[in-house]
Amino acid sequence: MQVTEIYRSIQGESSYVGLPCVFVRLTGCNLRCSWCDSEYTFTGGRKMSLENVEAEVRRLAPSGLVEITGGEPLLQEREVVPLMERLLALGYTVLLETSGERPLGKVPPQASKIVDVKCPHSGEFGTFRDDNLAALSTRDEVKFVLSDRDDYEFARDFTRRHELSSRVRSVIFSPAFRKDASGVRDASHCLLDPQQLAEWMLADGLDVRLGLQIHKFIWQPSMKGV
Ligand code: SF4
Repeated sequence: MQVTEIYRSIQGESSYVGLPCVFVRLTGCNLRCSWCDSEYTFTGGRKMSLENVEAEVRRLAPSGLVEITGGEPLLQEREVVPLMERLLALGYTVLLETSGERPLGKVPPQASKIVDVKCPHSGEFGTFRDDNLAALSTRDEVKFVLSDRDDYEFARDFTRRHELSSRVRSVIFSPAFRKDASGVRDASHCLLDPQQLAEWMLADGLDVRLGLQIHKFIWQPSMKGV
């Protein structure tokens, strides 16, 4: 597998937010989102065997939460699926962060998919495969990263049209963060003001979760490996 980094930190997103988590960050992505904070994963990395990845995860934490992320992890589906199966067999709670542009059907059902559906101003609108909706279950989560009202209305309408709130464990609306953010650790770096987002969600009566990327409030927003 081509791996950018493996590290232990605090889970900054999803309904597992705040928990210690080992991150396996794989190299390579086929999308180019305008607000991407992981461009350093597009190239480079190092080759590791499944056994070595598993051993590094076990060294960092003998149990608990592991997230497979990237980049786009499912570009390495042939290795990622057995890796998830091995980690599940060891008793880990396994999260897979993906854009939903690759087929999700081979992801082990015990793993929790966190699917980042791209919105109109992401630069990668329309890349989510609608047939992946059939692969979602109440273990999974759907996330929308929002930069303005157009993105919000798309996410709201998509959530309602596909009845996501009853289909998955959590639907998350998250303000996009400036990719060049540095200095103060506060919401001024959000492209969409969280207060504005909260007011829209409440006005529309949505049964969704407002998500902030808390690792960007705990550490410097530009810090990698956290
Ligand atoms: S899918 Fe993720 S890693 Fe790829 S460009 Fe978009 S935000 Fe970056």
